[in-house]
Amino acid sequence: MTTARYNRCAHCNTIYLWYPSSYGTPLPKYNSGTHCELCNEVMVKALNQIPLKFEKKWIITTDYTKQQIINAQNERISKSKIPVKRVMPGLFDMKNPDNIQSNVCEPMIDPNYGESTNYVARWWSKEPNNIEIKKQIWWDIENNCIAKNQKNFQ
Ligand SMILES: [Zn+2]
Repeated sequence: MTTARYNRCAHCNTIYLWYPSSYGTPLPKYNSGTHCELCNEVMVKALNQIPLKFEKKWIITTDYTKQQIINAQNERISKSKIPVKRVMPGLFDMKNPDNIQSNVCEPMIDPNYGESTNYVARWWSKEPNNIEIKKQIWWDIENNCIAKNQKNFQ
């Protein structure tokens, strides 16, 4: 099954079919919610000439412990009218189905930059003390380092 919607192209004003989602059916190569296939193809090919300069990345950190992340989440939820926990998909241990990966994810202030970012602590049920803690940062691809400006502009 595929969903489709008529849109008017933001550039050439042609009415075209946009496929916001697909369940198993391949989508048109230059499917876009704002531009027809022809205009989107031209834009994608032009933008491919410019390499990415930054990308979001998860890196290992020691900024916070698992318990600090859990405490921050509990504190936020206790103050919130809508108690929502972020959930990241856990992995499955194909060789040992009893071994389940759990995680806690919470936006917290990065002490290095003073900006809010996502932190996640992950552990496996068979090794509960082997905890991996990561944070989401902007990576400076050109200089191969953490970007200096970590403001979260999405
Ligand atoms: Zn167009």
